[in-house]
Amino acid sequence: MVEQEKKPRGFIRSTRQRRVILEVLRGTNSHPTADWIYQKVRDRLPNISLGTIYRNLKTLAENGEVQELNFGSTFSRFDGNPEPHYHFYCQRCGRLFDLFEIPVDHDLTARAGNATGWKVLGHRLEFYGLCGECAKTEGQDGTETGSLQNDK
Ligand SMILES: [Zn+2]
Ligand SMILES: [Zn+2]
Repeated sequence: MVEQEKKPRGFIRSTRQRRVILEVLRGTNSHPTADWIYQKVRDRLPNISLGTIYRNLKTLAENGEVQELNFGSTFSRFDGNPEPHYHFYCQRCGRLFDLFEIPVDHDLTARAGNATGWKVLGHRLEFYGLCGECAKTEGQDGTETGSLQNDK
């Protein structure tokens, strides 16, 4: 006897969309924007809309399957790696690198909790400067490196 399919069509479609988005995001370490993800997913799901991409990314982030990274910028970037880790932001080329070499300092979180008496669940720490490639060309074009605006 065949079990009656209880899940509505819309559910199956959105599950497939979410899986493709997750595959695209896990397939890169560039911490892309929703727009970049949209372009890639469209190769496989031509009818998908940017709004659907945003909605699914939000759900994936809420489920803890991906991370939404927002460093005071107007748009978010997404990380297919949900494990806490630090990032390095290059102020010249705008690339965001994983800094797995520096383990997440849970002691820092505990210290903030002790200092405030509040329930501190974690922290975000961002390193910035010039990546290896950009540091090499630093000064060659005579331009000043702009300071990172980090207003919240
Ligand atoms: Zn760079
Ligand atoms: Zn990352």
